[in-house]
Amino acid sequence: MKTFNYFQPTDIRFGCGRVKEVGDVVAQFGKRCLLVSRPVSNVLEPVMEKVKKSLSDAGVTFMHFDGVIPNPTTDIVTLGAELARSHNADVVLGVGGGSSMDTAKAIAVEASHRGTSWDYLFFRETQPTEKTLPIITVTTTSGTGSQVTQVAVITNPKEKRKSAIYNSVIYPRVGIIDPELMLTVPEHITASTGFDVFAHSFETYIHKNASPYTGILALEAIRLVAEYLSTTVKDGSNIEARSALSWADTLAGLSIANAGVTLPHGIAMAIGGSCPHIMHGEALAAVYPEFMRFTYCSAIQKFATLARIFDSDFTDTTDEAAAKESCSMIDDFLKKIGMYLSLKGLKVPENELEEIADHSMELPDYTNNPRLATRDEVLKILRKAFRH
Ligand code: NAD
Repeated sequence: MKTFNYFQPTDIRFGCGRVKEVGDVVAQFGKRCLLVSRPVSNVLEPVMEKVKKSLSDAGVTFMHFDGVIPNPTTDIVTLGAELARSHNADVVLGVGGGSSMDTAKAIAVEASHRGTSWDYLFFRETQPTEKTLPIITVTTTSGTGSQVTQVAVITNPKEKRKSAIYNSVIYPRVGIIDPELMLTVPEHITASTGFDVFAHSFETYIHKNASPYTGILALEAIRLVAEYLSTTVKDGSNIEARSALSWADTLAGLSIANAGVTLPHGIAMAIGGSCPHIMHGEALAAVYPEFMRFTYCSAIQKFATLARIFDSDFTDTTDEAAAKESCSMIDDFLKKIGMYLSLKGLKVPENELEEIADHSMELPDYTNNPRLATRDEVLKILRKAFRH
């Protein structure tokens, strides 16, 4: 058996109704909190009221930074970090989807270090230290796994690049996953974030650093997404399905934190850097059909396992036949959840595909794919994803 490490310091609080514990949780780490979220919409107002009441009841003084945007930018992080400093915050609480949780993480770094969050990306020599403010997360989407990862994805609009801080000091101290909070997620966002869970699970499963431990987490997450995502997209009020997806999201997060993602995520990050109007899950969905066809020959057994999770009729066929079939199964799955998207449909300018291909090679993700792609092969994938 191969040797491996598995590390997970986040205290996970999973279950319906657990958001009410947030005040006591935050109070264990500080008394002056910066609460970080998107501008509060009507649907999320009751959640935010619960969070604020819980903080007040626990004696926590808080300042609310509600300026998060989807695909959060460096400027937004700086605004939040200034507020954290002016409030003398000693703990940061992110409430929302990946955008809010990642902004909270990046603020926790920038508010306690010199320079900006962009100076602390994963490949820089200077890394965030233990001075980073403690981070607590409450997720309201089932998608990014950010509630349990050491990753904060940020976008630099001037450079048109999306990149990440990746460091153990930004693991949330506590991650609260309350499936009731996801009941209000609209259909398309449920599908898009749910496909992100699938992508995390499958990419960690085929990743070069996959271990027996991450394999178990990833396969269970894939099984749950295959069983519950289309039901949840059709009926967002189904709490059993919402709970299953929240759990899949958390398992996939634990898995990416210990293995990583591969080619589709590298390309999707580059698409997000060029076109911040595109949701992360949408970019992944547009790229997946071509990625599957490009990669399956190099990991026949794993792609065959995927096919058998989606359709047990493939138990008796050869691995080769099942692996090949997994490509059209993912097409069908994307169609079923309304996510069979093209880059053209997502309004990616065709003349930016070359630059997106260049940026896809800057993150290390593509190097961990079972089949190593050249820059020209990535461009071919993008061209096909533009049209399909
Ligand atoms: P998001 O946080 O941008 O939220 C998407 C939309 O859903 C927003 O408009 C938000 O207001 C709305 N929303 C959120 N919760 C809701 C609820 N309960 N009810 C109704 N509406 C709700 O989307 P996301 O997909 O969760 O996060 C995407 C970001 O996370 C991207 O920047 C992506 O790159 C990043 N990401 C981070 C990691 C990580 O490990 N840190 C992993 C994958 C992706």
